[in-house]
Amino acid sequence: MNKHIILLPGDGIGKEIIESAVQVLNAVAGEFGHTFTLDEHAIGGAAVDNYGTPLPDATVNACQNADAILLGAVGGAKWDGLPADKRPEKGLLGIRKALGLFANLRPVKGFPSLLHASPLKEEIIAGSDILIIRELTGGLYFGTPSERRDNGHAVVDTLAYERTEMERIIDKAFQSARLRRRHLTSVDKANVLESSRLWREIVEEKKKAYPDVTVEHLLVDAAAMKLITNPNQFDVMVTENMFGDILSDEASVLTGSLGMLPSASIRSDGAGLYEPVHGSAPDIAGKGIANPLGTILSAALMLRHSFQMEAEAAAIEQAVRECLDQGYHTADLDMRGGQEVSTREMTEAVVENLTCKSVSDSI
Ligand code: ATP
Ligand code: MG
Repeated sequence: MNKHIILLPGDGIGKEIIESAVQVLNAVAGEFGHTFTLDEHAIGGAAVDNYGTPLPDATVNACQNADAILLGAVGGAKWDGLPADKRPEKGLLGIRKALGLFANLRPVKGFPSLLHASPLKEEIIAGSDILIIRELTGGLYFGTPSERRDNGHAVVDTLAYERTEMERIIDKAFQSARLRRRHLTSVDKANVLESSRLWREIVEEKKKAYPDVTVEHLLVDAAAMKLITNPNQFDVMVTENMFGDILSDEASVLTGSLGMLPSASIRSDGAGLYEPVHGSAPDIAGKGIANPLGTILSAALMLRHSFQMEAEAAAIEQAVRECLDQGYHTADLDMRGGQEVSTREMTEAVVENLTCKSVSDSI
């Protein structure tokens, strides 16, 4: 298959971790006979420095015409003093909006060799494998009016959704559940919020079209507790924007390492933007010690969700797991024993596991 991928390295460690993901994508292309055309564009602080804006038109145009986008990270103290429209983060929000990326997917799956690093008990989190799907372009974060009134003595934020905005994310969740263990947990606050009551109605309507998926409704407060007391009860969780923001950060604790987590922001036609959950880590930028695995795993998500390349995605994930089992780890990972390696060495270890695997498979 031929695919056109836009690379947006951004700031801080962005360049280093995108380079790693490119090496792994090239290895996948070689192993599986694909052609990935990769073009780099500017976003974030790097774009402010070179073009005077965090999101140049050329970047938006390139992304609109691409099959998928892989982003490193944006931001850093260097640009903190700039006016709001020149902040690096504006570039990221702007590109999500320009592309209509309404669904944020965050798989939360711990690697066995890192589970001890979680503050939660290993016997509770072992085996947990959750996909959190968060609505990304509606709700409280986009409500109007959002303002201070009465000389600042009163405030208004609005939680607004169109039925169609709820329907498309709920459909996405059912479809994702079908590709996994076929269990969907819908999270809301239907005992208090009208928006949640409509959300719940739509889930009930939609489930008729997916009789093979079991559905459970959970109030967000209960979901927050169950996530850390019984994470194994979850397969796919779907929820609105703010609940999803909070629950996905909470769930990252299950894995013992925020630096490893990938994410996807996608729309109905499959186009999407993929990025690690962590930030630009300016404190270690340029030192060659950044953990590239969150970005490499984001590239795997890209293959799975935008290109339907399940075997290729699984091969990357397997190679990452094997590297960790072999004890390779970057400085940020709290691993017992093993060998501490650089960004480049970690990447080479992933490529090695990836390519050896398919050689032995084909013998
Ligand atoms: P943002 O606001 O952009 O999310 P943040 O304030 O959450 O940023 P990060 O940039 O994620 O912060 O960094 C938090 C800490 O984690 C820093 O000490 C950073 O060095 C470390 N860190 C983040 N990502 C990585 C990585 N890929 N490899 C190694 N260390 C990392
Ligand atoms: Mg952060």
